[in-house]
Amino acid sequence: MSEPIRAVALLSGGLDSTLAIRVVQEQGIAVVAINFSTAFCTCTPKGQGCSSSRRAADQLGVELVVQVLTDEYYALLKDPPHGFGRALNPCIDCRILKLKKSAKVMRERSASFLITGEVLGQRPMSQRRDALRIIDRDSGLEGLILRPLSAQHLPPTVPEREGWVDRGKLLAISGRSRKVQMELAEHFGIHDYPCPAGGCLLTEPEFARKLKDLMTWKPDFTTHDLNLLKVGRHFRLPAGSRLLVGKNERENQRLHALARESDILLDTEGVPGPLALLQNGGGEEDLRLAAAIMARYVKAAGPIRFRVSRGPEGQGRELLAEALAPEAVDRYRI
Ligand code: SF4
Repeated sequence: MSEPIRAVALLSGGLDSTLAIRVVQEQGIAVVAINFSTAFCTCTPKGQGCSSSRRAADQLGVELVVQVLTDEYYALLKDPPHGFGRALNPCIDCRILKLKKSAKVMRERSASFLITGEVLGQRPMSQRRDALRIIDRDSGLEGLILRPLSAQHLPPTVPEREGWVDRGKLLAISGRSRKVQMELAEHFGIHDYPCPAGGCLLTEPEFARKLKDLMTWKPDFTTHDLNLLKVGRHFRLPAGSRLLVGKNERENQRLHALARESDILLDTEGVPGPLALLQNGGGEEDLRLAAAIMARYVKAAGPIRFRVSRGPEGQGRELLAEALAPEAVDRYRI
């Protein structure tokens, strides 16, 4: 018996990529799925691969390869050749990078082509017809990227021309409506797809603002810096310090866990309140301002007593501060 034709599929864990795999599986193609985990994926627990993609791979019965993208991806963010979308999302270059990496896995696994769940016209930046053409061309994979959900709107690819897959059984979905995908999910009995269309922090304006600030002040940022961007309210103080104030107990604990020896921690004494982390140590002036900003989030009148310590285990000293007016606090907000 001849070996089945193999393909490598990009699997985000969302419905579209799950359906794309299911559609080609119907045609007897053996699929290896690949998930790219970045610090920007909203469903990535501690950078260990998207939990939704793991669940989707199990449902589909396919092997899942997880690749964690860090420095290479961060470098891309500094100057993406094809620019950004509405926020700080370099979608076209992001797709090109992921497809190039997938092609490497394709060759290693003796697979013949790639599959994505892209839908023509669904996303404003990377799923326009011309953007798909650019992605194919600049990844060096023209003809080798099959998009089963929109294939009938797109030029025939190698797997279609070679007869490995029947183009007539591929789909002609386009646009932003997800109605056909929902029906298809029902048809295939796929009910569990918790990471729908989005799942990328780079598309969120508030996160993009914080990331831009980080890139300005610390161009060589690390995954640790990105993890901090996801916690608390953020402020940039006049002498260059960055202040992070927890919004709830869970965030307070997270800030404490993420604090390093070089960070200053501020905690209220005697009254409940947030925990704050101060980076860069912009001197006594920034420290006092940080305490005044933080006091704004304490539900108590009069001067607030704070414990100030360096690092999570540091020795503390006390500091008294009066809350700054809300408008004044907003001046420093990132
Ligand atoms: S939304 Fe995020 S993960 Fe998706 S292509 Fe754009 S940058 Fe990449």
